[in-house]
Amino acid sequence: MQWFQKLTSTIADSLWQKNCPICNRPADLILCRDCDRQIAAHQSPEFLQKDHPINPHIPLYSWGIYDGALKRAIAACKYENHPEIMQAIAIKIADQWQRSPMPNNTKKNLAIVPIPLHANKLKSRGFNQAEVAARQFCDRTGLRCYPQLLQRIKDTKAQMLTQSVTERQENLSQAFTAQVTPKQHQVILFDDIYTSGATIREAIATLSKANTKVCGVIVIARPQIPKAQKLKANS
Ligand SMILES: [Zn+2]
Repeated sequence: MQWFQKLTSTIADSLWQKNCPICNRPADLILCRDCDRQIAAHQSPEFLQKDHPINPHIPLYSWGIYDGALKRAIAACKYENHPEIMQAIAIKIADQWQRSPMPNNTKKNLAIVPIPLHANKLKSRGFNQAEVAARQFCDRTGLRCYPQLLQRIKDTKAQMLTQSVTERQENLSQAFTAQVTPKQHQVILFDDIYTSGATIREAIATLSKANTKVCGVIVIARPQIPKAQKLKANS
């Protein structure tokens, strides 16, 4: 009866298999092969962003370049209600992390803290994309996911909607609160997109007041800095 079991499981697979959330064609796992390839084409040449640490002690890791198919995939996840896209990308980041240069014994003791959404945004979107990705990342790497450590208490504007430096600073000021823990935690922050780094810096400041040390930041993507701007910044 082996053939019968095989046949029923094949039928069940084809009935339950969902289409690719980006293009709606049959998917291999979560995404179809074509979308997966297009997203992979935007992988950053280096995971560790040597040109742009958060500060001299906190490295930034970015899996991809925020552009093209990767940018569209992140938008489809957030605005078309497809959290599974984050899971597909998080698997790629986990594989990259396991190959990254940070020593394995350092990696083992770290917990992953996703950048939280404010309750209002969480209610309207239904999920926090950074947390979905962080949980999948932790499933794959065996690291502990610790989303309850940091909360967002201020319903901030998108930074790109702010008009001035002062408004940007005020917008994020005291945006977070963190659980104070007697034992110091060593954590890695996890977010979807890195732009100015202001949100991350505010989260680091809040966590450090609550006895938590941030050892690194992982993001799905950051925009590529134009070469001319890079040269100017280095000169
Ligand atoms: Zn597709």
